[in-house]
Amino acid sequence: MKKLKYLIDHVTKTIHQRDYAGDRCGFLNTPIDKREFIGDGAYIELLKTEKGYKVCNSCQTFQLLTR
Ligand SMILES: [Zn+2]
Repeated sequence: MKKLKYLIDHVTKTIHQRDYAGDRCGFLNTPIDKREFIGDGAYIELLKTEKGYKVCNSCQTFQLLTR
């Protein structure tokens, strides 16, 4: 079974890392049906390159701090 590693916010077009996403990411205002859990890295790349989605800085920073 694939792990669903990413949380996509389709309102703000932001890619969160599921393990690190939290209140500071600001997706709590996003309706549930506009959020999507993804495990596929290729789809993430497509969102970034084709759709202009951005990786969430809060998730990145938090990941670096806890490493
Ligand atoms: Zn985030």
